[in-house]
Amino acid sequence: MANTLKGIVASEGVVLGRAYLFIKDKLEVSNKKIDENEIPEEKNKFTDALDDYREYLSNLETDTDAQRNVVEAHIGMLDDPYLIDTVNGKIDVGENVESALVNSISEMVSTIEGLDDPYLKERAVDYKDIGERLLHILKGVKPQKLFPLPKDSIIVAQELTPTDTSVMDRDNVIGFCMDLGGKTAHTSIIAQTLGIPALVGMKNVTKVVKDGDLIIIDDYKGQLIVNPDEKTVEEYKKLIQEQKEEKERLEKYKNEDSITPDGKKVEVAVNIGNIEDLEDGIEKGASSVGLFRTEFLYMGNTHFPTEEEQFKVYKRAAELLKGNTLVIRTLDIGGDKSLSYFEFPQEDNPFLGWRALRICFDMCDVFETQLRAILRASKHGNVKILLPMVISVDEIIKFNEILEKVKSDLRKRQEEFNEDIEVGIMVETPASSIIADDLIKYVDFFSIGTNDLTQYVLAVDRGNEKISNLYSTYNKAVLRMIKRVIDISHEHGKWTGMCGGFAGDEKATKMLLGMGLDEFSVPGPKVAKIKDIIRNTSLKEAEEFSNEIISLTTTEEIEKRIKKETQR
Ligand code: PEP
Ligand code: MG
Repeated sequence: MANTLKGIVASEGVVLGRAYLFIKDKLEVSNKKIDENEIPEEKNKFTDALDDYREYLSNLETDTDAQRNVVEAHIGMLDDPYLIDTVNGKIDVGENVESALVNSISEMVSTIEGLDDPYLKERAVDYKDIGERLLHILKGVKPQKLFPLPKDSIIVAQELTPTDTSVMDRDNVIGFCMDLGGKTAHTSIIAQTLGIPALVGMKNVTKVVKDGDLIIIDDYKGQLIVNPDEKTVEEYKKLIQEQKEEKERLEKYKNEDSITPDGKKVEVAVNIGNIEDLEDGIEKGASSVGLFRTEFLYMGNTHFPTEEEQFKVYKRAAELLKGNTLVIRTLDIGGDKSLSYFEFPQEDNPFLGWRALRICFDMCDVFETQLRAILRASKHGNVKILLPMVISVDEIIKFNEILEKVKSDLRKRQEEFNEDIEVGIMVETPASSIIADDLIKYVDFFSIGTNDLTQYVLAVDRGNEKISNLYSTYNKAVLRMIKRVIDISHEHGKWTGMCGGFAGDEKATKMLLGMGLDEFSVPGPKVAKIKDIIRNTSLKEAEEFSNEIISLTTTEEIEKRIKKETQR
């Protein structure tokens, strides 16, 4: 009998395959007390285990930045003095190495899981992972392998750790499902980078699914179908085949310009967090970048990246784009994004707190270092600056003063840069959209950040599952703001892009085109599809459609009408 389970879509796609149940061995941990003369030997065993695991990690073959970041983060954690001191401290008071390790990790994990910060919370899984690996090494047991795997395997696990995903048999894994996990977990980010569909937070998938079961991940419905009947299998096979053919069709046209049949040229850019995303985006048909989320450079590091470290990355990105636009967003940290090497203050409302531009204004050194690196890269391509979380003209005036100071420092150093570098702002707060008519006089362009704009306009936390039904960018309040912001920029002879997730929502493309959006900045896998819709929709038809949508009142009506237009 077919069974259906709901999950959080961590990475998009539809796949049909066989479940590979990955249940980690529960190793027995010895409780035997040790004598004083055994202490040095137990400590040596721990040091040897750390060395073995470090060597194993150093020799791992990694393909992506995301995987390299995980491996580097784990190598860094093996040197964590707190971990080492805690384990050795327990050995000193008579615990054997296995129990000292397991108890230390479990104490650290419960402390981390008790934190309010969702990003830090998810790091607990990294410590659990390290603890498990070290225990296997201490016991001389090989961990259950994710390599090699049978063809078309969908891994079903309670929790798949970042190391698991970096060693799994990528040629044969077509998806994964987990009992635990959230959208921002390392594992989810890796799944997105690898383009493997994934459902997480499924609670009991490992209890329901048996090894070898036929299963289907459907991202559209956010569900897993277990042992589907023949009719369902046939339907999904047909859907997968259609999606494959559609992909092949899009592949043929991916490098064509996105011009509507009646001649409006619209930019389709890619959102990136690193050079690899850019290479992938270019390969998928993007010719520019509408959002470089530079915080990933900071998050995947052990220190605030230096001017030189940042310059190298921005310069490389500018060069790869060969004169096409590279919009670099200044550091957008805080909210749900934290840094392992910097302590953020405890805040009751982090999303309404010390984040993005507010932090940059308070940490002048960090901000100026980034601006110097961006300005220097501007000599090597068409670089523009994008400011996050703007709420007032005062901030733009303040920013311009800082930018002038940084330019003057570079002139003294005789560094070359683009004196006329363009500066835009993200419209992602209600304030910035309300005063867009003032702000546009101070900036060169707008980029609408619908992820935050939606949560702030509707007062609906973008990460709270309980109210996720209310989080809809199709709410008329948000749509009106989008339309008004675009109109204002055009009245001043400037342009508006969109870099929030809504830009990559193919159901919204026709309406946004009709509203006059000039640039869609989307994740790599969405580039070809959005270009294709634009190439096949006349501006006139799109305008009529967006006017019709704007004339509707309830979110339900709007979503219904949009769905009707774009049924799967
Ligand atoms: C947004 O808020 O829409 C956006 C693009 O920024 P981020 O998702 O990085 O907050
Ligand atoms: Mg944002």
